[in-house]
Amino acid sequence: MSEQTTDPQAPTGRSVLVTGGNRGIGRAIARALAADGDRVAITNRSGELPPELAELGVLAVQCDITDTAAVDAAFSEVEAAHGPVEVLVANAGITKDTLLMRMTDDEFTAVLDTNLTGAFRCARRASKGMIRLRRGRIVLISSVVGLYGSPGQANYAASKAGLVGLARSITRELGGRGITANVVAPGFVQTDMTAALPEAQQQAYLAAIPAGRFGAADEIADVVRFLAGDGAGYISGAVVPVDGGLGMGH
Ligand code: NDP
Repeated sequence: MSEQTTDPQAPTGRSVLVTGGNRGIGRAIARALAADGDRVAITNRSGELPPELAELGVLAVQCDITDTAAVDAAFSEVEAAHGPVEVLVANAGITKDTLLMRMTDDEFTAVLDTNLTGAFRCARRASKGMIRLRRGRIVLISSVVGLYGSPGQANYAASKAGLVGLARSITRELGGRGITANVVAPGFVQTDMTAALPEAQQQAYLAAIPAGRFGAADEIADVVRFLAGDGAGYISGAVVPVDGGLGMGH
């Protein structure tokens, strides 16, 4: 047996980019893929890198996904460090909840600009390298709310439903080039985003979830890991609910 000359702990896998990877669901996804040996980069607006991701060799790149030039620069930085992005997880998202009657144009378009147009900007930039590689995995993090609807979340639900059309159009456009695009639709997962919801709304969700509990970020990460993996090569344009049964019938 030849002597090992490289660090056995050094990541050797695919170049992965997870937007919004410093907190909540994105952080769990980045952790899972980095632990599998992928070369993972995360983006967020501050460039923050959580300590456990630093230990796994994850690269943090500052990037506001509402800015096309910043998305381009972030991808270039990741490509220089890890090679062309083979797995894109478009996870970054925001809420600006209020009832339809009171929702301003800014509240509507800001949520669309981050959640939907931001994912589009990243997918468009990622597709360049994926087309050259003739392989790629795009996973868009939507929400049960995208197809279920939610009072006070017209902007958020519209943005999350839009991701389904985005993934299916990418599938039809790039499916012949070894690229898949799928949507993961989490239900209620305990993160900073859901901690901000009023207690009464949290209890109402809990009562409606057949599983009788909220989800964990790691449970979303497990599904993303599968969709990003070799075993999911023939799944594309799918909407995979991870919601304890909340949205059954979508
Ligand atoms: P968090 O609020 O905990 O994290 C959101 C992430 O998005 C942060 O990393 C944040 O980074 C990043 N982000 C927000 N805006 C931008 C931007 N303009 N540019 C770059 N990064 C940005 O959310 P969750 O972990 O709860 O949610 C992650 C995804 O899962 C979201 O798309 C959300 O809609 C979806 N989801 C969550 C559910 C839940 O129950 N938690 C349920 C269903 C879907 P920073 O602010 O540091 O820049």
